[in-house]
Amino acid sequence: MKALADLVFDNRFARLGDVFSTPVLPEPLDEPRLVVASPAAMALLDLDPAEADAQVFAELFSGHKLWSDAEPRAMVYSGHQFGVYNPRLGDGRGLLLGEVVNDAGEHWDLHLKGAGQTPYSRMGDGRAVLRSSIREFLASEYMHALGVPTSRALCVTGSSTPVWRERQETGAMLLRLAPSHVRFGHFEYFYYSNQHERLRELGEHVLACHFPECQAAENPWAAMFREIVERNAGLIAQWQAYGFCHGVMNSDNMSILGITFDYGPYAFLDDFDANHICNHSDDSGRYSFSNQVPIAHWNLAALAQALTPFVEVALLRETLDLFLPLFQAHYQDLMRRRLGLTQAEEGDAELIERLLQLMQAGAVDYSLFFRRLGEQAPAEALAVVREDFVDLSGFDQWAQEYQARVEREGGEQSARRTRMHAVNPLYMLRNYLAQNAITAAEQGDYGPVRELHAVLSRPFEEQPGMQRYTERPPEWGKRLEISCSS
Ligand code: AMP
Ligand code: MG
Repeated sequence: MKALADLVFDNRFARLGDVFSTPVLPEPLDEPRLVVASPAAMALLDLDPAEADAQVFAELFSGHKLWSDAEPRAMVYSGHQFGVYNPRLGDGRGLLLGEVVNDAGEHWDLHLKGAGQTPYSRMGDGRAVLRSSIREFLASEYMHALGVPTSRALCVTGSSTPVWRERQETGAMLLRLAPSHVRFGHFEYFYYSNQHERLRELGEHVLACHFPECQAAENPWAAMFREIVERNAGLIAQWQAYGFCHGVMNSDNMSILGITFDYGPYAFLDDFDANHICNHSDDSGRYSFSNQVPIAHWNLAALAQALTPFVEVALLRETLDLFLPLFQAHYQDLMRRRLGLTQAEEGDAELIERLLQLMQAGAVDYSLFFRRLGEQAPAEALAVVREDFVDLSGFDQWAQEYQARVEREGGEQSARRTRMHAVNPLYMLRNYLAQNAITAAEQGDYGPVRELHAVLSRPFEEQPGMQRYTERPPEWGKRLEISCSS
């Protein structure tokens, strides 16, 4: 276990030089205080969880102090926002403080979000508010607990610094961890600005640091792209299977590592709705829940374009064509597991699709359905969940097929229950739960956000006294509008 002062830095991205990032110091927040920290994320840096209680912890993660070996930098990138190319984005309000090497030899980027203005801030104030920092914190750590690849969150620091959004709020900083903060948009930036030698440097850096296994391939760039396509197919399958709606799948918010990245107006579905749009500013529904699949493919095509100086177009196309079948295979596998099925059968895709249609028609709570389906033997469980559906004859037909399917596979109910509860969370990060925790935190009470985080860090395990976190949302909690402003 390490103390904060013992972290070891090895700033590989900073060494690429000023073409790739600009040195910028964090701008401190007033009266910093720790809102919440993740012991599991601290463990990634071998940090003693007790370190979170030290005053220096809040000072380091609010811009007041800095390790002497940190080299804070704002990265430059570009990207397609809502389908339109923006030639210059970059870290407008976050800084890569440096890369920490843990005892296992892994590098972790320390990225401080909300650290003040940078050359890439455009019209922005460089800040992040408490509300959005808490939302990113909770989602990062929850997604990890679910087993979905994601950036991590070490802590949120609050402050008394006023920040103006639709109303006056207070500034906060989130310390984000990821093995890399390189986005699709990094490659697009050097491609579209015709800096192809720099693009080569970037690609070689990413290959050496993050895709070393691709370096032996005949064309390492092609192998890397294939790996990125495969990872994204798996990632999006998990999003769809768990009802996660990202909300802003711009290519600058897509991680080169295939992890969930840059949480904004995200939502986990309460009632199942394939057309759900979680981003209040997304008028056309470009990033609606079901569109996430074609949009991920679209973003991969945008990345492929930026790789054309190094990989033949035909090969890029061929690799892109793998996305949909890979996605479908992963998705069906996950959904089968959520349904407690262990063997693939012809007609599975239809069985899943019909269930979703029935859920949509009945506005059935997506996550509770699966949890309750596993709780008892099929006949009893189906009778319980049936009450939530509207098209009862449709449901009965589905239920009959499902039950027959479970019986064909055989096996003990206790094993089925264990298997299903291991993939179907009891506790969900629902918008209204996050909102309640945020409202309390905005009034200076950090108890609720800490408790919510603790409960969500073990989402599959029943926790005594935590029943209230399993409730469906109240009416107000279903209609929360989350905007891009953060
Ligand atoms: P996002 O929607 O958070 O992915 O951000 C898109 C771009 O806008 C990125 O380049 C951000 O760094 C930048 N940005 C977002 N909010 C701010 C802000 N408050 N101040 C400066 N830049 C910002
Ligand atoms: Mg972003």
